This record gives sequence, C-alpha cells and structure tokens, in this order.
Amino acid sequence: MGVGDLTAIAASSRMRQALLTAPRTLNWTELELPQPKAGEVLVRTRAALTCGTDLKTYRRGHPKIPFGPFGHEASGDIAALGSGVDRFNVGDPVMWVQTAPCGSCAPCRDGMENLCEHLTDEMALGAYASHVLLPAKIVARNLYAKPAALRYIEAAFLEPLACIVHGWSVLQRGGRASTRAGSLAIIGAGAIGLLHVLYAKHAGMSVTVIAHGEERASLARELGADRTLPSSAGQSGNFDAVIECAGTTSSWREAVELAAPCGRVLFFSGLPADTDVSLDAGRMHYQELTCCGSFHFTPDDVRTARDLLTEGALPVKRLISAVVPLDRLADVFERLEQRNGLKYALIPEPFEPQWV
Ligand SMILES: [Zn+2]
Ligand SMILES: [Zn+2]
Repeated sequence: MGVGDLTAIAASSRMRQALLTAPRTLNWTELELPQPKAGEVLVRTRAALTCGTDLKTYRRGHPKIPFGPFGHEASGDIAALGSGVDRFNVGDPVMWVQTAPCGSCAPCRDGMENLCEHLTDEMALGAYASHVLLPAKIVARNLYAKPAALRYIEAAFLEPLACIVHGWSVLQRGGRASTRAGSLAIIGAGAIGLLHVLYAKHAGMSVTVIAHGEERASLARELGADRTLPSSAGQSGNFDAVIECAGTTSSWREAVELAAPCGRVLFFSGLPADTDVSLDAGRMHYQELTCCGSFHFTPDDVRTARDLLTEGALPVKRLISAVVPLDRLADVFERLEQRNGLKYALIPEPFEPQWV
C-alpha cells in the first residue's frame, strides 16, 4: 500500500490496524471505522510507542494480552464521541491508558484497583493503527486532555509512567523511603529502568544503575544517573532501595543481594508465571529486607503520571530511539529483537512533523 493510499484512508471512513496474529507474525488489516457506542470514544492515533510488554507478546504471546490488535501506548485526537461523553469534543488531543478498573470487584473495593479482577476484560489494544476505540470505562476513568505544550510522543508515555508511579508508591508503602544519597540502585537500563532513573532524579535522589553494555550505561548517565556499574559485583548490601528492571531470575537474586539492612527491594519486572527464583533467605530474614512486587497502576497513578508529564517534569522523549512511520512496525520489532534501540515512536500516516 502506497503513501497515497494511506493518506486517503486518513480522510476516509476506514481505518488501518496492525494485528499480531501469532508470535512474530504481524499483519495489516483495513476495516470500517467503528461508531462509538454510549460512553465510548474513537481516537485518531497520532503517536504510538513500543513497550517491553509488546516485545514479550511479539516473541511468545502473553497470558493477559490476546493476539489481535497490537500495541497499547498511544495518544491522538478524538475522531468521534459516543453518546453521553460530554467532557470532550471531536478534535481534542487526548492521552489515555489501555485499561481501567471496574470499581466494584473485591480488589477494587479494597483500593487495589491495579489488581481489579476485570482489568483485562475490555482493553484499548491496537495502538499501532490509524484509530483506536476506547471502551466506556477507560473514557470514564483514564482518558485525559493532552496539554498543547506536550508533544504526542510525550503524551504516549502516560501508561509506562503510570506503571513507574505505581512502583514508587509500592516502594514507599509503609516503610522508610530511601532518600540517602547513593542508596538507590536500579538493575537494568532498558526503557523502564531509565524511566525509573528519570523519576528518581526528579525526586532528588542519587542513583546507581547496573547496566550491561556501555551504550545503555552512557545513556543512563546522560539521563542523570550518578553512577553506572557493569555488574553488581562487590556491591552487596550497599543500597537502601533496589529496583529490579532487568527481568531475569539472576537479576531478582542480585536485587536481594544489593539491599542494605532494612532495605527495600522492588521487583518491577515480571517473570513468566510459575518461575522459581531462589533468593538469599538469610539475608531477607536477618537483614529485615522488605521485598515487594509491583503490577500495573491505579487511576490515581495515571493522574499523577499525567501531572508529571504536564509539568514537563521528566524528559521522557530522550528515551525514544527513533521516530518512524507506522508502516515500518515490522522493521521496528526486528530491531527490538536484536536489542537495537530501546523504545520507538511510530507515527501513522500522514507523517506530519507537528504531530511528533
Ligand atoms: Zn507499556
Ligand atoms: Zn475491579
């Protein structure tokens, strides 16, 4: 399909959407633009971002994300409104996240909306597309106006930043927050590890990043990391807080190893279900470590992330490896497979610089 065809689609009543139909199998489909039903919103996508979760799904599928419309981090302009949506107008630039809690299940009632039993019932998947239909519950809870000063690419960071905000709320929950200089370690310098670096620096903390590879280490330093180390060797017990972002069983063990007495460990990266990890039980018990997992985000976390983006508090755009036309989605995932680049921004046709 040529550029002319794509431009025609942009102005037509049809949409174009990338489907992940099986591991490493991307197909494009063209369909009638959906008419939003009551409470729903149809968005014209202006920017979509790749994400580690997408890469995992691309490689082997995902237990909570079905094959089908692909991608979940995006921003855009409202193309059509369902009945009853009165907070927005057609044409409004917006940002959103791909889920919203139901508000009525047991975890939701207990304030654990990130663990809502119906979180994945209706998701706004299909960010790699000309348009995305947002379900009513997302419109009601997790759709925000994009401020004019915020670029579409920056606005599309709402979802990963909400995850980071949630992780920090877990890390600081009910215990002493680590603020001592030099006391925070982040294991892993992928997009998420580096987003944690930006957040920690905004919070005024001193950060050590364990980064494999000089390219990522130097990016971590450019983004404000005070120190980078190629491995955690010799750092046992040196950090009041450790955030694990590398997603391997050995990095989970390292995180426990690095924590100081009464230290806090945040396992931010998920491992495949049923993964067994052996951790140093003596250290966890006798050093009184607090070890926590972190999953997803609540609407409050999304609002905090929106505020941070709106304030321009974090230079998130520096995490983008390249801005490319959406048509090159398959190339981009090939590159990510080769560890070539951290996070890409994909722009649907027509590729207009002012939308970047
Ligand atoms: Zn994501
Ligand atoms: Zn719920």
